Amino acid sequence: MTEVSVAKEDVAATGDLVVLKSVNKHFGALHVLQDIDLTIARGEVVVVIGPSGSGKSTLCRAINRLETIDSGTIVLDGKPLPDEGKELARLRADVGMVFQSFNLFAHKTVLENVMLGQVKVRKTEKKKAEEKARKLLDRVGVANQADKYPAQLSGGQQQRVAIARALAMEPKVMLFDEPTSALDPEMINEVLEVMQQLARDGMTMIVVTHEMGFARSAANRVVFMADGRIVEEAVPDQFFSNPRSDRAKDFLSKIL
Ligand code: ADP
Ligand code: MG
Repeated sequence: MTEVSVAKEDVAATGDLVVLKSVNKHFGALHVLQDIDLTIARGEVVVVIGPSGSGKSTLCRAINRLETIDSGTIVLDGKPLPDEGKELARLRADVGMVFQSFNLFAHKTVLENVMLGQVKVRKTEKKKAEEKARKLLDRVGVANQADKYPAQLSGGQQQRVAIARALAMEPKVMLFDEPTSALDPEMINEVLEVMQQLARDGMTMIVVTHEMGFARSAANRVVFMADGRIVEEAVPDQFFSNPRSDRAKDFLSKIL
């Protein structure tokens, strides 16, 4: 039996949406992802925390192949991620990504930003794409900003547009890489609330964040990374009240 069909059966049996097995990645001499095994079930919200430089962003970027990996496998909804080609583009479209910097197209309106991927990648008809974009902008609370350009919006509004844009692709999983780190403090909650609602609606989410309140209330599981490894995984209550590893204890003592 080939490795591919084994992976498919695994997923079908468990409902796992994202499965990383023995994933390794180097940047030169730096072993930035070390034997990462991580399984994310459909509808699960996993918060990834850890010190700066521990490999959290690289992990996210590997999951949608913005970074290649050196060894191991990443399986997305039963399909192993290939290194390149049309199949990669298809699978990548199933992964919504929201970064620290909002990455909106500056020369497009808010509405156009949310329509673009639908029309170009999903080949949705313009009228339908616009309808959906307006619905999503309403859902994230910026419907009245549709005709503005990103620079005319606050950081919190821009990040909510970025979330709407990602959702417009109907992703199977959403990756958030420190989505509130670049925001002024008074805008953090409006973005976290949208994410909370998304979690309640059943979206599968991987969230890198330093917002421990969000981790406590929204996460099904906390994954703690240090030095390129997953050091500890636990439900939030257990992780925050009773971390097992010294690395996690040390990290929590600094941020809480
Ligand atoms: P985190 O998101 O947890 O802060 P990163 O995944 O961004 O960590 O980075 C992990 C390590 O890999 C860091 O030491 C970082 O400097 C290094 N790194 C990240 N991207 C690159 C790159 N493109 N080239 C070389 N080193 C990189
Ligand atoms: Mg990072």
